[in-house]
Parts: sequence; structure tokens; C-alpha cells
Amino acid sequence: MKKTREEVVSEMQKVAEQMRIDDIEENPDCEYEFFTCDACGEYKSLAGSIQYGNYRLCNDCVMLAETCFELKEIETIEDFLNGMEDHKLEVECEYIKQNSNSQNN
Ligand SMILES: [Zn+2]
Repeated sequence: MKKTREEVVSEMQKVAEQMRIDDIEENPDCEYEFFTCDACGEYKSLAGSIQYGNYRLCNDCVMLAETCFELKEIETIEDFLNGMEDHKLEVECEYIKQNSNSQNN
């Protein structure tokens, strides 16, 4: 059965959050260690970040990338990074963030 976009987003948000929690449990310092995300270019916490080949993505971008993979909107991490450069996915990222905020209320 095909999942709706909303289902995939909420699922990936849980997965990404769990990865962040696991990282902090394993290495509490990583929450306060920072790197520059290869996708959004922001200075982000290492906790919950993932290395995809040559690129390291922050927790927020991991969530978005995994959502795109699950929905088959992208095939490789390069597709994702190209999308971020075009600001296509950035807009989508904002949409997802707003969406998650409204779900939390
Ligand atoms: Zn990022």
C-alpha cells in the first residue's frame, strides 16, 4: 500500500528524532559539536547527522532526504543536493517544518 506524503513525513520525523537521541546517548558531546551541513549550508549539531558518501547532512536535512527517498522523488544524495541548490527542496523543507509545528500543537 502506498503511503501518503503526510504519513511518510511524520514517520521520517520520528526516525530522524530517534537517530538524534541515539547519537546523544552514545556520545553526549556530539550535541555540542557542530559542522557545516552539505545540503542546507547551515552550522548544525552533529547529533542526528548522517554521512552519505562524501556528504554530511544535518538532522533536518536527513529527515527531508529520507522522505524524498521514500517517496522516490530522488534516487541519489546528489539529486537531493541539486534540489537544495535549486531551492526547490528548501521550500519543501519549510513546508514540512510548518507542517510539523502545527502537528505538535
Ligand atoms: Zn542541513
